[in-house]
Amino acid sequence: MTAIGKAREKYHIMELLDQMDRTGPSHPLRQAQDRPLRQAQDKPLVRVGDIGEVETYDESPFISATSPSGRRTGRARAFLKVQEGCDYNCSYCIIPAARGLGRSRPLDDCLKEARRLAAEGFQEIVLTGVNIGTWEADDLPGTPRGSAQGQGLLFHDLLAALSRVEGLRRIRISSIEPNLITDDLIRLMARRENIAPHFHVPLQHASDRVLKAMRRRYSIADYRAVIERIAAAIPDAAIGADVMVGFPGETEDDFRQLVEALTALPLTYHHVFRYSEREGTSASRMTAAVDPAVRKERSCVLREIRRKRG
Ligand code: SF4
Repeated sequence: MTAIGKAREKYHIMELLDQMDRTGPSHPLRQAQDRPLRQAQDKPLVRVGDIGEVETYDESPFISATSPSGRRTGRARAFLKVQEGCDYNCSYCIIPAARGLGRSRPLDDCLKEARRLAAEGFQEIVLTGVNIGTWEADDLPGTPRGSAQGQGLLFHDLLAALSRVEGLRRIRISSIEPNLITDDLIRLMARRENIAPHFHVPLQHASDRVLKAMRRRYSIADYRAVIERIAAAIPDAAIGADVMVGFPGETEDDFRQLVEALTALPLTYHHVFRYSEREGTSASRMTAAVDPAVRKERSCVLREIRRKRG
């Protein structure tokens, strides 16, 4: 039996398969089930390929600005995947295990697809990836980054190259980790009119104790400094953040620090997530879980701050 779920179902896939398994014998799902396989297994089986071995990048699915559906919806935005996987090891995150270590799409390949999208008539492309700020490439084929022959290319070099693609009117970056926002990147975004002045910078927490337990790669002082540098260089920049409440061991005082930071930082918006245990992560084995009712209460407080921000 094949089951396809959306992203929000992925963490509950075993429960969903269990529910399917309990459907009656006349249920179509049940009838379609692979009985010999099920008889051989005590539990449902999830088969996936090894994404860590994936080195090719599918061309982006999109709605063309010139296609009938594009004209109907008026959408003219395409997604360009420039990176896959993540070498970071945040304690609550299952993505490195699921998507493998970080890999960068070659520069020529990114440029080729950007030109194709521009030729299709797209007004805007959004650069996507799991951890796009880690994109890197050798500047000469076969020369390792930082070697005597080559200095290596970093994310801002990719963005600069893409911003010069003829016919591309707008480029937007998706989420980028705060420790990867360099002055070179900020200067480039301030200078190039066709790069949207939009930064989505995950914060997750404002207590250094919690950030350390999450294994994030910055302190709240580092985060504040980078946001202030962006705001100073690009006064009309939209700056957004993700924050998480209810991480194991989060105290009232940690939460107060998060409230204060969200109130004081020059953010345009923030998204609030309630921590939930992900099997296979080191955070799921931490003690001192925060009561689910407290998680809910704290997320309501942060949503209220967002509502007041407008
Ligand atoms: S939260 Fe982001 S940076 Fe951290 S491990 Fe997951 S994908 Fe990587």
